[in-house]
Amino acid sequence: MSTDLTRLDASELASKIHSREVSSVEVTQAHIDRIGQADGALHAFLHVAGEQALVAAKEVDSAIAAGDEPVSALAGVPIALKDIFATTDMPTTCASKILEDWVSPYDATLTTKLREAGIPILGKTNMDEFAMGSSTENSAYGPTRNPWDTTRIPGGSGGGSAAALASYQAPLAIGTDTGGSIRQPAAVTATVGTKPTYGTVSRFGLVACASSLDQGGPCGRTVLDTALLHEVIAGYDPRDSTSVDEPVRPVVEAARQGASGDLKGVRVGVVKELRSDSYQRGVIASFDAAVAQLTALGAEVVEVSCPNFEYALASYYLILPSEVSSNLARFDAMRYGLRVDDGDMSAEQVMAATRAAGFGKEVKRRIMIGTYALSSGYYDAYYGSALKVRTLIARDFDAAYEKADVLVSPTSPFTPWKLGEKVDDPLAMYLSDLCTLPTNLAGHCAMSVPSGVSADDGLPVGLQIMAPALADERLYRVGAAYEAARGPIASPVS
Ligand code: GLN
Repeated sequence: MSTDLTRLDASELASKIHSREVSSVEVTQAHIDRIGQADGALHAFLHVAGEQALVAAKEVDSAIAAGDEPVSALAGVPIALKDIFATTDMPTTCASKILEDWVSPYDATLTTKLREAGIPILGKTNMDEFAMGSSTENSAYGPTRNPWDTTRIPGGSGGGSAAALASYQAPLAIGTDTGGSIRQPAAVTATVGTKPTYGTVSRFGLVACASSLDQGGPCGRTVLDTALLHEVIAGYDPRDSTSVDEPVRPVVEAARQGASGDLKGVRVGVVKELRSDSYQRGVIASFDAAVAQLTALGAEVVEVSCPNFEYALASYYLILPSEVSSNLARFDAMRYGLRVDDGDMSAEQVMAATRAAGFGKEVKRRIMIGTYALSSGYYDAYYGSALKVRTLIARDFDAAYEKADVLVSPTSPFTPWKLGEKVDDPLAMYLSDLCTLPTNLAGHCAMSVPSGVSADDGLPVGLQIMAPALADERLYRVGAAYEAARGPIASPVS
């Protein structure tokens, strides 16, 4: 009887491919077949690139057959890429009509790193338009569904990547996290996702949402797989002006250490402001059980207070729209993408008609809020105040990290809700980002690791682990130790 290759972890697949027990072509083909079988009901992918993936797989197989060392620890293991990273051989749409069928003339640095690491790209995954949203319902191409319950959202904006992992359509995936778009989808699909320290994964070729917050990052079904991918994609890039010129953090070593060890000597801070009675009861129960498990592993658990986190949502939803209004000005119908022009229009009319037709409701809402917040007369009151709050949040973190090595909270206050439930209530949607936003505002790193299912509805809950800038390895040590202690979570996905 042959094993179903789609059920194996990326690290297992890598060792089987590198020892020639299976080929990368077989592994890649198994995932392409799985996409064909499962994705009709889920819509995790906007574009599937089976042929190109098989070409990349074959190259890895030939090199291994010729006796070469694998080009990376994940060589031959295929991946799903969020449709916000530029790729020369398939479209990059950001799930927007304004970029329908658009193909980039260059690869993102992250795309290049995947190719150089011998990682076949299965296709591009669905997302909220230009990464604005928490449910993937803002995709111009229709929503993605949660593999745990197809009447529910898979999180957002990276719902496609998380759903691809949770439904075994890909063993690895890439997301971006501006306010939680890697971590919240991970939480609601029982997968793992990390927002690395700002500046440590190149933004070159990552279509900008809010440049001071955007960060690409790794997603997997296990902490170790996520760490292996983290090391592939991180690193200084002179083509990104905010890239940090520091060595890649030793996250794989930390994950291995965590999985086989205890947490003696590790100080874990529970953030008082991120554990509220207004959260879903089952989420709080799962979180408390996770904290008890960390204590049992030998961690020293303390409570910390970050009073300014209360204003994170208000600050984020001014800073993000302000940057969005500026970044999305590039979609002017002149250079690339959609162009609506009846032949009789002035340049201004073409721009207005194109943007009216090309952007969805949420994107327009944020462009308007941002334009307003940046307008003269309101700049100091809105954008200026938001920046001050951002500084206060960073100070809260600094004080908390004097008492703790990592901080923890639930990743999201709720389990995945029903499709359609929050689409007409933006504020309700924004509230799902409550726990993830502070990390982005501070430029720090954080991970979501599954903490089981909620007792009230049987749906996934995520534990968020946060660490200071350039201490990403702490996330992996604590995450891997917790994952090993927690044990496997039975997935209903067949
Ligand atoms: N849900 C948040 C938002 O709508 C975060 C998005 C993201 O991280 N890209 O802005």
